[in-house]
Amino acid sequence: MSARRRTLLKVIVLGDSGVGKTSLMNQYVHQRFTQQYKATIGADFVTKDIQIDDKLVTLQIWDTAGQERFQSLGVAFYRGADCCVLVYDVNVLKSFDTLTNWHSEFLRQASPPDPKTFPFILLGNKIDIDGGNSRVVSDKKAKEWCASKGNIPYFETSAKENIDVDAAFFCVAKNALAIERAHDIYFQPLPEAVVPEIEERGGGCAC
Ligand code: GDP
Ligand code: MG
Repeated sequence: MSARRRTLLKVIVLGDSGVGKTSLMNQYVHQRFTQQYKATIGADFVTKDIQIDDKLVTLQIWDTAGQERFQSLGVAFYRGADCCVLVYDVNVLKSFDTLTNWHSEFLRQASPPDPKTFPFILLGNKIDIDGGNSRVVSDKKAKEWCASKGNIPYFETSAKENIDVDAAFFCVAKNALAIERAHDIYFQPLPEAVVPEIEERGGGCAC
């Protein structure tokens, strides 16, 4: 094990079911995309190591387990988040309209020390569909929403075509790092509530 200290950043991904949250994570971490719809089973996270300037950073990206349909994600999911990625589908108006709920739900559940400066990022996903002809939310409308929430950075992505996925997550990491709520990876305890679940799944330890 390297003696070099790494910084662990917890990132959570929120948004309506079907917008492409799991696909974006898979594309970013595994460079894979599958057309098949598969509801995520069990709250889980994936990790990816990246370098930002001279710092080694481990992004621990948490996916939902499909409970987003009921807006009932456990407190362990939100606890200690360093950045919140909100995702909507540019072709589905409802997924854009519910962003405000996801945003306030995050602030309510995670209750970060300074809600006004907490790093969010918005991804408008599936821009590849129908060559953009079926999109119903304009870039302008999305940017206005971001401005109204304190200038949240905005990216338009395609998990399928791998458009701007890396750039978006790099921005996530930079912004999360900037607020310096980072913890040393070797001393980061796993939230108690998720430990048994991870053991049952045969691995998943972050270190
Ligand atoms: P989640 O419920 O938010 O995790 O959404 P998923 O990642 O499971 O994706 C839902 C469906 O949308 C799946 O069939 C994916 O293959 C598809 N999908 C996700 N991202 C994209 C994208 O960028 N473009 C296209 N065309 N389809 C996508
Ligand atoms: Mg999913």
